[in-house]
Amino acid sequence: MTTAKPQVHVIGTGGSIAGIGPDRLDYILYSEIGDHLTIRQSLERVPEIDGIASVTSEDLVSVGSTAIGPSEWLALSGRINGLLGGDSALSGVAVTHGTATLEETSYFLHLTVKTDKPVVVTGAMRPPTAISTDADLNLLDAVRIAATPHAGGMGVLTVLNNEIHSARDVSKANTFRVETFRPNELGFLGYADSDGQVVFYRAPLRKHTTATPFDVAGRDSLPRVEIVYSYAGADGALLDAARQMRPDGLVVAGFGGGTFPPDFLAAAGRAVDDGIPVVLASRSTAGRVVNTPRKEQQGFLVSDNLLPQKARILLMLALTVGNDRQWLQQAFLEY
Ligand code: ASP
Repeated sequence: MTTAKPQVHVIGTGGSIAGIGPDRLDYILYSEIGDHLTIRQSLERVPEIDGIASVTSEDLVSVGSTAIGPSEWLALSGRINGLLGGDSALSGVAVTHGTATLEETSYFLHLTVKTDKPVVVTGAMRPPTAISTDADLNLLDAVRIAATPHAGGMGVLTVLNNEIHSARDVSKANTFRVETFRPNELGFLGYADSDGQVVFYRAPLRKHTTATPFDVAGRDSLPRVEIVYSYAGADGALLDAARQMRPDGLVVAGFGGGTFPPDFLAAAGRAVDDGIPVVLASRSTAGRVVNTPRKEQQGFLVSDNLLPQKARILLMLALTVGNDRQWLQQAFLEY
């Protein structure tokens, strides 16, 4: 008896995983040159994938991920929901993406795709044209995970360097190393391991995918949320400038558990007084930002343990549901 192979759809978006460099020693210039393999060409480099899944593919865009933002997130989320909705025969979807903003796209999808099937995002730190590229193995691992039913129900996953992470927790931690994607102290979820097995040890607890109220179908834009970074001696001038742009929300990156230079915090308070939701986040790469009675009274929100770039995405999505302060703060405790 032959069992049918799982069906996996792979969506290419560009990035180093598809980058074409001038020679085998180039690990840098290719991304400025900007040429990319199509996803079909990337898949052809790994014929072994055929033994794992029956694969279809498409190129959504073909860019470095520095050029990816809300309109690509919306297109990708809509496409994945279309592919996996109804009684789709697909086992899962894999996405190839540049590593620069991979954590942001992945978290957006984690909050907006409505499926319990595996959705896996991968990239590479070394282009396919370079010595010791990680492009082929990461693509293989992503398809392997997308074809694995027990990888479902955990929200959007990322895989590079054989390590499977939750999209909520993962962040690019090192500029060039292949083990760059790290989960900010929380630990990875499992491995796509050397024996071909996909093994999990933990599952995310925060709500995601089908358990969120975020429905972005039909939207062509998202609320505008800016991030302002603080530093010793920051006087709030940049924050005032951001406030005067009248964004829909602001995320401010401060110190440790949520402290800021006094003049910077005063500027953040002026934004709250103008009716702009302001989320206090941290420059620290792990740990929670907590509210205090005084900050609460001033009307600030806190990011929990989301990095500023992730807090921005959650605030953008939460604002699509409502801008009541209690709801916005609750969103940071739930998602
Ligand atoms: N320039 C690349 C990008 O598209 C970097 C990478 O993929 O690693 O984000």
